[in-house]
Amino acid sequence: MRLSQYFLPVLKENPKEAQIASHRLMLRAGMIQQSSAGIYSWLPLGLRVLNRIEQIVREEQDRAGALEIKMATIQAAELWQESGRYDDYGLEMLRIKDRHDRDMLYGPTNEEVVTDIARTHLRSYKNLPLNLYHIQWKFRDEVRPRFGVMRGREFLMKDAYSFDIDKESARHAYNRMFVAYLKTFARMGLTAIPMVADTGPIGGDMSHEFIILADTGESGVFFDKKWLDTDMVTDIDYSDDLQPVVDSFTSIYAKTDEKHDPDNCDIAPSDLLERRGIEVGHIFYFGTKYSEAMSATVQGADGKPTELHMGSYGIGVSRLVGGIIEASHDEDGIIWPESVAPFDVAVINLKPGDEAADSLCEALYEKGMAAGRDMLLDDSNDSPGAKMKTISLIGVPWQIIVGPRGLKNDLVEVKHRASGKTVEMSPDAALQLIETSGAISID
Ligand code: ATP
Ligand code: MG
Repeated sequence: MRLSQYFLPVLKENPKEAQIASHRLMLRAGMIQQSSAGIYSWLPLGLRVLNRIEQIVREEQDRAGALEIKMATIQAAELWQESGRYDDYGLEMLRIKDRHDRDMLYGPTNEEVVTDIARTHLRSYKNLPLNLYHIQWKFRDEVRPRFGVMRGREFLMKDAYSFDIDKESARHAYNRMFVAYLKTFARMGLTAIPMVADTGPIGGDMSHEFIILADTGESGVFFDKKWLDTDMVTDIDYSDDLQPVVDSFTSIYAKTDEKHDPDNCDIAPSDLLERRGIEVGHIFYFGTKYSEAMSATVQGADGKPTELHMGSYGIGVSRLVGGIIEASHDEDGIIWPESVAPFDVAVINLKPGDEAADSLCEALYEKGMAAGRDMLLDDSNDSPGAKMKTISLIGVPWQIIVGPRGLKNDLVEVKHRASGKTVEMSPDAALQLIETSGAISID
């Protein structure tokens, strides 16, 4: 992408309405524009990041064996009347009437719709297990939309729903999602701690919120300080027994403030940390709650109709954009982990119009693209200072700076956004770095 042809409306000043870093930086970097309270348009740079996060979520769901579908955003009220939630859900639900005066709603979540799909098509225990997911916009009329995309009214969520014949197999589905979440968040460079969360009337131990730590987070959390040194990366295969993996993580204390009970906490007070965090995902086994209310049964091995055991598994895809920025920024701007960065490498021409500078930049840009990298070429006429500020603000992981001084000696400057390190090297060496993007070190 050539910056001269791009739409990157960066702001020099800090927007007054933004109270936290991620919201401020997303507005300043021209990623989003508010359309009304808690509702945002995603501009080109923001959408690139959102799409990359969505893709990581999708790949890990697919690997875990979930099947992607796409349910509609608008739902019929009848299904919610059947489940009993139409009246319970309250003001968060956006209720709509169509031209025939029928009650409709903009989906805040999809248990009812997916249960309807399941009861229509699943006939026998032999059709199980099944896990269906979609990545779709949700609307919840939150009392206090705030912090930008962190608590929006319209937001992008991945929600998966598992169907099993009994609780024991539902636990397998739960464990797969547990592991998929560990892998998903680790790929984004996040430490998302699975915290024991409320299970409601169903009870049991199958509800975890995945929470990343941030002072501005809305959730109060208590956890063993061991978590700070725990490696969240797991290379376990889904065909292995997942229970020991799940147990090894859940054996380290971590609970949301709803569940934490100081009188019933068996770790030493000196090991217990109290912090704030952002919920980026929630996995939950809720048994036969919906299948009972909506008569979703299949024939069991004994030939009898058996209610489906279900779980639901959410990830806040758009919230993650803000969450990753909260976890990774400095005073100059965003520091994108390479896995979600809007561009892999920026080539910055500090002397546009100069023949040698232009042709070197073009060559680096074209060759980078040919090597499959997402390249940004700053071919604008902004001042060198402004260029460097913008690139740091939007957080491109690798920057190759072509300036007058280096050109004379056939050198370019390569800057690594995360470490702040800058080194001079030949254009060929820079090209090699582009081609391997991060695989070689600049020490
Ligand atoms: P919260 O307690 O933050 O309101 P929730 O319990 O209502 O979350 P779920 O219904 O489990 O959330 O939704 C799944 C995921 O969707 C959450 O883990 C969160 O990451 C995301 N999410 C929920 N509400 C919002 C929102 N208003 N804006 C952005 N993301 C959201
Ligand atoms: Mg909520």
